[in-house]
Amino acid sequence: LSIKKVVMKTPCKDLIDTHCHLDAAAFADDHEAVHEQARRAGVTAMVVPGVSRRGWRRLLDLCTRLVGCYPALGLHPLYLEDHCGEYLGELERLIATYPVRAVGEIGLDFWDKEADPESQGKLFADQVVIAAHAKLPLILHVRKAHDQVVAMLRRLRFSHGGIVHSFSGSLQQAHRYAELGFCLGVSGTVTYERANRVRGVVAAMPLADLVLETDAPDIAPAGCRGERNSPANLPLVLEALSVIRSESGADIGAATSANARRLFGIGAID
Ligand SMILES: [Zn+2]
Repeated sequence: LSIKKVVMKTPCKDLIDTHCHLDAAAFADDHEAVHEQARRAGVTAMVVPGVSRRGWRRLLDLCTRLVGCYPALGLHPLYLEDHCGEYLGELERLIATYPVRAVGEIGLDFWDKEADPESQGKLFADQVVIAAHAKLPLILHVRKAHDQVVAMLRRLRFSHGGIVHSFSGSLQQAHRYAELGFCLGVSGTVTYERANRVRGVVAAMPLADLVLETDAPDIAPAGCRGERNSPANLPLVLEALSVIRSESGADIGAATSANARRLFGIGAID
């Protein structure tokens, strides 16, 4: 992975990685170095979403220690066997106690046939209600369930917006999320030439509806395939989006960072 090359080419020195699992086991030994490398690559802020209760405390601690890291807490729809109802009360308490920026990552994943849809739906709805009470945005994980998620957000009258992480739905679904105040997370998926549909969607949507993310250590961009992904790769996502939209990286970087700052209440560069 040639970070130096990326740093040289970065046209924006204030990028925000809105979805980065810096607390993941894959970064256990070197998360501080990875964080430092990302900052040098122009990634000034990273939002670190929670996936299970087991990791919440460590995630909060990591975000307290590392500059520009912002915590989100939630129970991920694919780790149902790790969750239980009592954790929702703890989620409420932690949100009230720590500077948590969002509830997530939460959602529905109907692509994975193992995860019971009904249990996912209940867990999701309960967490949306918690976010609404706390007036926090959501970080959504949605696969093969966009229509169901949109219907649920409407039914619950959720009005605090958020991000649909690594969005891969249709243009029509993208517009529905935008109407509900959600931005679409643009990930390394767009660096792959065969990703025609998602490329078409991120080309067609207004910049006001897009934010950038790596989903590190997952979704390694083209050219780093099979490697551990890193938040320092965010400029590669920006570069691909710039080509797809025929707009300058500087403009896209500034607009997407402003969107992320507004959504999560993140102030100017630390
Ligand atoms: Zn994630």
